[in-house]
Amino acid sequence: MERKNRLIQEYIHDPYFQKTKLSDPSVCEKCQVVFHNGIFDWLDAVPKDAEKMVCPACRRTEDNFEGGIVSLEGRFLAEHKQDIMNIIKNTENAEKGLRPLERIMKINDYADKIEVFTTYEHLARRIGVAINNACKGELELQYAEGKKHIRVYWKRD
Ligand SMILES: [Zn+2]
Repeated sequence: MERKNRLIQEYIHDPYFQKTKLSDPSVCEKCQVVFHNGIFDWLDAVPKDAEKMVCPACRRTEDNFEGGIVSLEGRFLAEHKQDIMNIIKNTENAEKGLRPLERIMKINDYADKIEVFTTYEHLARRIGVAINNACKGELELQYAEGKKHIRVYWKRD
């Protein structure tokens, strides 16, 4: 019950959550996430009476409306790009299991820089913290005032 309340609280002010007409139960026709008993969850078996919908995370991805951007740069990145990509993917997988709407929308991989776009600010922060814990460097979190959006900068030369 506590988990359920916490999960709903996080999204209640999200315009994409409010825009989505959610029947309970319902299933996203794009990613198959299920909304049931008031929470989003990954289920092996979708309830038979579930109506179809497009979940807030898939809507954000379609609209390119991210909740967070992680910018990574520096010489360390260039030399350890694969390790850092693995941290990014592992962090997404762990978060997505627990909070199904937290996802990576896209990754821009430039020679000396990586930009990761996430559906919500929570995952962007987690990715920045995970990389900084594993690799050290400089981490900066910038919250947009009055908005559910974060810019995460990480750098190590
Ligand atoms: Zn979806």
